[in-house]
Amino acid sequence: MLNNTKALLSQKAACITPSLTLAITAKAKKMKSEGISIIGFGAGEPDFNTPAYIIDAAKKALDVGFTKYTPSSGMPKLKEVICEKFKKDNGLIYSPSQIIVSSGAKHSIFNVMQALIEEGDEVIIPAPYWLTYPEVVKMCDGTCVFVHADISNDYKATAEQIKAAITPKTKLLILNSPSNPTGAVYNKEELEAIAKVVVESGIYVLSDEIYEKLVYDGAVHYSIASLGEDIKARTIVINGVSKTYAMTGWRVGYLAAPLEIAKAIDSMQSHATSNACSISQYATVVALSGGEDFISEMHNTFDERRKCMMKIIKGIDGLSCSNPKGAFYIMVDFSKLIGKKYKGVEIKNSIDFAEKLLTCGVAVVPGEAFAADNCVRLSYAISIEDIKEGLKRIKAFTMEVV
Ligand code: PLP
Repeated sequence: MLNNTKALLSQKAACITPSLTLAITAKAKKMKSEGISIIGFGAGEPDFNTPAYIIDAAKKALDVGFTKYTPSSGMPKLKEVICEKFKKDNGLIYSPSQIIVSSGAKHSIFNVMQALIEEGDEVIIPAPYWLTYPEVVKMCDGTCVFVHADISNDYKATAEQIKAAITPKTKLLILNSPSNPTGAVYNKEELEAIAKVVVESGIYVLSDEIYEKLVYDGAVHYSIASLGEDIKARTIVINGVSKTYAMTGWRVGYLAAPLEIAKAIDSMQSHATSNACSISQYATVVALSGGEDFISEMHNTFDERRKCMMKIIKGIDGLSCSNPKGAFYIMVDFSKLIGKKYKGVEIKNSIDFAEKLLTCGVAVVPGEAFAADNCVRLSYAISIEDIKEGLKRIKAFTMEVV
């Protein structure tokens, strides 16, 4: 008899790494449900409600019956508003045909990779990175090439490092400023140097700018695409409303790309998911047309927590952190504690550190998830009271590491 048995999963599906963030969050949730007090520093979304003016707009979308398919790449009015946003915030001129609205920025990123990457293509990813990037590259049969940056350069990859990583197979560079997980914000000079390397080598850039409104200490967000026509022609800008307007559940992200790329993505999206939720799109038109007060209040709250957190962490023996100037995360470096013991058990890496910390009532994300195994990521999208209590527990924990 012929053996017709085939492997159930494709190689692609089998090689995807489950999210470490979710694993530790699940453990922390279980402990909480058992009545154990846990301070969770894992949050990847603002702890603010979506502003009322946006919720009202969604209600209106329902009332007026805006509940049908829209064009696959987004409702025309929204694309117009997005073009205005790019012009106002980033000095970038796009036509609506260069804009694609998708079901979250994550979806936009996936679309870009699907459109550009095929087997054998190399994608340069500065590390520490947002953990989704390498997985999406793998899903598109691409090869990740990591460029490592550490605390000595505020976790920013340099143009020289990127240049050295480029080979004839390189297709794309992923840039994420402000960065998840490090909070790093590239300044104009750094971006100009990177843009020069990109243009000279003929590769493309995916610039993920989803945290653009959350910059502190006088840092200014620049879109690399705004640094000249040559680099603009090689850049796909990713943005969305999840972080800026506390709309993570609404699932609206968007991209701006050279026309040929936008057209290809439009066709692919029309067969994969069609349009992003019509109600969310309708509300996003209104979201992007206002919200300054909300953004400023959220920004100031995050900044206050960021400063408080940095000050406390820098006062804890064995821990260090950079001065993150963006997003709502701090990478805490615990290199000095590696090789030491907590209750007789050695701390070898970030998973050991995070697991032991969990027994002290604190959940953090191990840096292994971001290619920084000597670090853990702490989010400050939680209350200042929780931040203080959590850091008190972390300090007590470190004092028992010998
Ligand atoms: N890009 C970065 C760097 C992120 O941290 C996130 C969410 O955590 C996203 C993109 C995805 O955002 P969205 O909710 O729009 O899919």
